[in-house]
Amino acid sequence: MAAIEVRGLHKAFGKVTALEEVSFSVADGEFFCLLGPSGAGKTTTLKCVAGLTRPQRGSVFVDGEDVGDIEPNHRNLAMCFESYALYPQLSVFDNMASPLRSPAHRLDGDAVRHRVGGIAELLGIAQLLDRGVDQLSNGQRQRVALGRVLVRPANAYLLDEPLAHLDAKLRTAMRAELKRIAHGELTTTTVYVTHDYVEALSLADRIAVLKDGRIHQVGTPAQVWNEPADSFVAQAFGKPRICFVDGGLVDGDETPWFVSSDGAVSIPVGGVEARPGDAVRVGIRPRDLVLQVGAAEVAPGRVRVEGAVYVLEHLGRQTEVTVQVGQTWLSVLVPRAQAAGLAAGDKVGLVIDPEPVHVFLPGEQGRRI
Ligand code: ATP
Repeated sequence: MAAIEVRGLHKAFGKVTALEEVSFSVADGEFFCLLGPSGAGKTTTLKCVAGLTRPQRGSVFVDGEDVGDIEPNHRNLAMCFESYALYPQLSVFDNMASPLRSPAHRLDGDAVRHRVGGIAELLGIAQLLDRGVDQLSNGQRQRVALGRVLVRPANAYLLDEPLAHLDAKLRTAMRAELKRIAHGELTTTTVYVTHDYVEALSLADRIAVLKDGRIHQVGTPAQVWNEPADSFVAQAFGKPRICFVDGGLVDGDETPWFVSSDGAVSIPVGGVEARPGDAVRVGIRPRDLVLQVGAAEVAPGRVRVEGAVYVLEHLGRQTEVTVQVGQTWLSVLVPRAQAAGLAAGDKVGLVIDPEPVHVFLPGEQGRRI
């Protein structure tokens, strides 16, 4: 096992800047996720760590040693990239055993069988060991590719979207399995690339959120959720997404108030680094809203804004109701039974809990203040 440190990575492909000053450290045994949309630079970062891509600037340290001049196969990092390449003519067992037969490991037959069997068991593919990989589904193949990485004792595992090709049900099951493996049986340092925020929140000890080659925040799941560094990070987590409302701060009795540009949304906002008159943007998560139909009591400390149902979207047991409030739209989740009585155009109230509302500087990626 090893700690990994990435310092000031810069990588451009022609005119495209893939990475800009990317820095983070992964502690020994930590499960670290790189999360971001397509093109954010996740794979490029992982390839720089692996030594498969050379950055123009910056360094990678493994256990304090600068590995810049060390070839990929001597870094002792086990990698699984999205485009998994298995040996089509070999069985599942032989595919998984192949890394253990390299000169670096040279385990005897029993040790190989034991190791491969154990990992296959963990990944739920023990019954497939004798099959040819050409007889497997994509999901099974992906698990074999992951198994081939995990069998090998390594300084760290570098995993690029290892669950990407699984269907939703298997993905959820494998996520739970990986979590058990990562935090239980194998506590090997892991850098895990994903664009799925649920995967990142449920698997990671810490998450680096990337966009356009830049890290916006590195934090624990609780930190990126509760204290997002900026509005990009805030919208990267949660479904339905956080809703943003633009406006400014005005004086209030005890705390300043946020008032939206059209005056339709007013919320007290305490403890922000801004003054009355400043333009800001607030972020309100659907789960922090309660929908009311008709006059109803509003709990102390909460505020109610008035709007009209814009659209209803059924999501199984819950329904996402988008409510137009002045010139902005706020989403709220309601139980299906409550939504059954609603139609577009109905007048409704939204009760906002001001406590978890985030305040940002204006703009797409404004810093949280
Ligand atoms: P995805 O989730 O789609 O895999 P990503 O976050 O892993 O995206 P990267 O693959 O690291 O993103 O790509 C970052 C940027 O660098 C993108 O704009 C991509 O088009 C560009 N890029 C990556 N590899 C190359 C390459 N070999 N040649 C040219 N451009 C590249």
